[in-house]
Amino acid sequence: MILFFKFILGTIVASFLNLVVMRKLRNESIIFPASHCDTCQTKLAWYELIPIFSYLFLQGHCRYCKATISSAIFISEITLGLTCILYTKQSWLDYLMLGLLFYISIWDLLSYTFPSWVLAPLTLIAVYQTIYSWKMLVIIVFIYFLIQLINLVFHQFGNGDIDLIGILSIMYSFYTVTKIILVACGLALLFIFLNPNHKFKLPFIPFITLGWICINLITK
Ligand SMILES: [Zn+2]
Repeated sequence: MILFFKFILGTIVASFLNLVVMRKLRNESIIFPASHCDTCQTKLAWYELIPIFSYLFLQGHCRYCKATISSAIFISEITLGLTCILYTKQSWLDYLMLGLLFYISIWDLLSYTFPSWVLAPLTLIAVYQTIYSWKMLVIIVFIYFLIQLINLVFHQFGNGDIDLIGILSIMYSFYTVTKIILVACGLALLFIFLNPNHKFKLPFIPFITLGWICINLITK
């Protein structure tokens, strides 16, 4: 029963984070107006707001104008719900980090960017849990700025991707960070393999988040 509630809580949080990001992107209030279809603006009934169920019930389309509802919302709700079920030994800091990573993942999915303030709490969590001495942290920060500088010239990675990997490098060993990146790359390649016709630039932060979840689950 507890697992069921954890699943439901995860799906509700994911649904709320999706709503927050979509409204922030449109410069709308989070509270008003009430939830509505983005295309026809029709106010949604309560049963159209139930995470996962509503998407399945509506078969991914608005009931009124038949506009497509992003499958990313459905996938994020299932992913966070399942992650909450699997999180049994994680600390409240892990849950906080999970929420923050999910928040920037949704931002990255929808806009290829995310609000930079999120980096502050993520950095604080990383510094609090760091395995390194302050001298080593100075070296990590130096390497981080060096990579950002190189990226300024070559533009191979998103700045947010480097920021996030830099933060993970504060709290984990080089070996663990490499594992997170490898899992992220593997999942990204799997996505490309399963969606050969996708035409959009692939946001990488959702994959780093999934990589972090996998390693966080295995190591605790
Ligand atoms: Zn509609």
